[in-house]
Amino acid sequence: MPLRAGKFELHEVRDGTFALDGGAMFGVVPRVLWEKKFAPDDRNRITLGLRCLLVVDGKRKILVDCGIGRRWDAKHVDMYRIDHSQLDLDRELARAKVKREEITDVIITHLHFDHVGGLTREGGAGQVEMSFPNATYHLQRRNWVWAHHASEKDAGSFRAATYEALERSGRLHLLEGATELCPGVDIFVSEGHTVGLQLVKVSDGDRTVVFCGDLVPTTAHLRAAWVMAYDLYPLTTIEEKKMLLAQAAEEGWVLFFEHDPGVAACTVKEDQGEVVVNEAIKV
Ligand SMILES: [Zn+2]
Repeated sequence: MPLRAGKFELHEVRDGTFALDGGAMFGVVPRVLWEKKFAPDDRNRITLGLRCLLVVDGKRKILVDCGIGRRWDAKHVDMYRIDHSQLDLDRELARAKVKREEITDVIITHLHFDHVGGLTREGGAGQVEMSFPNATYHLQRRNWVWAHHASEKDAGSFRAATYEALERSGRLHLLEGATELCPGVDIFVSEGHTVGLQLVKVSDGDRTVVFCGDLVPTTAHLRAAWVMAYDLYPLTTIEEKKMLLAQAAEEGWVLFFEHDPGVAACTVKEDQGEVVVNEAIKV
C-alpha cells in the first residue's frame, strides 16, 4: 500500500539488500550494544536495506536514489553480500505500476556507490545505458565536485564509472543548496555524512515525509551518538540529526529510512532525552 501525503503517492522501491561492517555503521558504539539490534554475520557484517523512495504526482514521477545496481563483479558481490534474489528495482517498480521510462526525475542524495549503482545498467550488446532514459538527474554541485577529488577517507565510496555515465547522459542538473523541486517537494542539504548530501521533504495536506538518507540511515541511528564511522564530520551529523528529529517529533513527520532492513518509515517521539520510534508505518 502506498503512503499518501495529500496529492502525492509514495512507494518504497527496494533494490535488494547488501551488507557492511557493523562497526563502521555505528562508529564509536561498541559491538555489545549494536549487535542486539543487528546480528552480524561471521565477517562482522550486518544486513542493510537499499530502499529508494518513489514519489508520484500524476505524470511527475520522482525517484529518490536508485540502489546499488547490478553492475558488480563476483568479488564485490561477495564483499558487500549484494543480494537481489528477492527484490530489485524492476520488480519493485512493476509493483508500483511505474515503468523506468516514466521516471521524470531522479534525486541523487550523493554519489556513494550504494545510492547510485542503479543509475546505469547493461543495455543491448553489452553497452552501458542510463536506467531512467527520460529522467533529469538532480545532484548538489558540491557533492559532484567533491566526488571528483574525494579524500583518502572516503575515496573508496565512489565509483568513477557511474558519474562519468551521468555526465555523458547530458541529463545531470546540478543544484546549489536548498531547492524547491516542485510545490510540495523540497530538497535540503546536510553536511555531516559527506559534502553536499541532499535530502528530500515531501509535504501536502496534513502529512510530511522526510527521506533521511545517510543522515539517519536506520531506526538505530535515531540515537544521537549512533553515527556512522563513514561520516566525514560526525559532530555535524549529530547536530543536524538532533535538529531534524526534534522537528519531526514536534510536528508528527514521517521519517523514511534508506538502509533499515525492516522498518521503511515511522513517526518519532521524545523519550527521556532521546528520540525513539513512535509508530512504524508501512509504505
Ligand atoms: Zn553514503
